[in-house]
Amino acid sequence: MDEWVTLSRYTTLGTGGAARWFARPASVDALQNVLGWASAEGVGVETIGLGSNLLVHDGGVDALVLKLDGELASARIEDGFLVAGGGAPNAVCLHRARAAGLGGLGFASAIPGTVGGGVRMNAGAYGREWRDVLVDALVVDAEGARTLSVEELDLSYRHSGLRPGEVVAQARFRLEPSDPESVKTLVAELLAARKATQPTNKRTFGSVFKNPGGAMGAGRLIEECGLKGYRSGGAVISPRHANFIENAGGATSADAIGLMAEARRRVHERFGIELEHEVRFLGPLELPRL
Ligand SMILES: Cc1cc2nc3c(=O)[nH]c(=O)nc-3n(C[C@H](O)[C@H](O)[C@H](O)COP(=O)(O)OP(=O)(O)OC[C@H]3O[C@@H](n4cnc5c(N)ncnc54)[C@H](O)[C@@H]3O)c2cc1C
Repeated sequence: MDEWVTLSRYTTLGTGGAARWFARPASVDALQNVLGWASAEGVGVETIGLGSNLLVHDGGVDALVLKLDGELASARIEDGFLVAGGGAPNAVCLHRARAAGLGGLGFASAIPGTVGGGVRMNAGAYGREWRDVLVDALVVDAEGARTLSVEELDLSYRHSGLRPGEVVAQARFRLEPSDPESVKTLVAELLAARKATQPTNKRTFGSVFKNPGGAMGAGRLIEECGLKGYRSGGAVISPRHANFIENAGGATSADAIGLMAEARRRVHERFGIELEHEVRFLGPLELPRL
């Protein structure tokens, strides 16, 4: 177990302070051991994947932060299912599935996270999401390990019923036979579509707010408030897509929070809509009340 590990290098935005405790369990047994330690010591537990939907407090996190490793971060094909550790990057899963002639995970090519982060967020794109391909997940906490079905995970739009301290150690996906070349072509098309509309070459944490429903998405609402290119310190509302915040150099998480607060305030003032943040907070971060 390490102490005071800087988390900025584990997030795609590249901001945030240190974790009081940090561990990289590489098996279910190792995971259960660190969770047992945290429970005995009364220490809170947080899990990070690739930090691609994460904003970490600049002052750090007074908890044990886990990053899954080893067999908890790898993927294989078993009995026709894709079986992946919670820490396995989506790109690795996609590669394994394609090599085995399995498709259906192409939508995840544009989502730069892990299997566990995808379950937690019910990540999705292009009309498909985790719950469409997930069979079940092995969830571990201080009490032990259990396998939860998609229904038990309670997945809906960027939501799951997972509670703090519950870690997705492994997940099983049901995919469909597909020619590797057509999977490759689909992925190339989806990535090109992304490049055309989103700041894919900048440091961001993906969508800042959930789409509120209705005619306009969060990005359009923020854009209508004239906030594209709006800056706070080293962070800027993306000139390309207003539901993204870019680290333009030297940004802090406080800068990002400042931009989020301003966007929420203006959208509420102009449209009467309360935007809900999609990005997850680690540490004592919060947005001011409207
Ligand atoms: C350029 C870009 C584009 C993106 N596009 C999309 C998109 O199209 N669709 C979409 O849905 N998202 C998108 N995202 C957001 C992000 O990639 C997804 O939410 C992703 O699923 C997060 O995975 P992660 O492993 O990085 O999780 P993290 O960001 O590390 O964590 C997110 C949450 O999941 C929890 N978590 C992580 N791992 C585990 C685990 N093993 N067990 C339990 N909880 C865990 C964390 O505690 C946190 O609450 C995008 C992000 C970027 C930067």
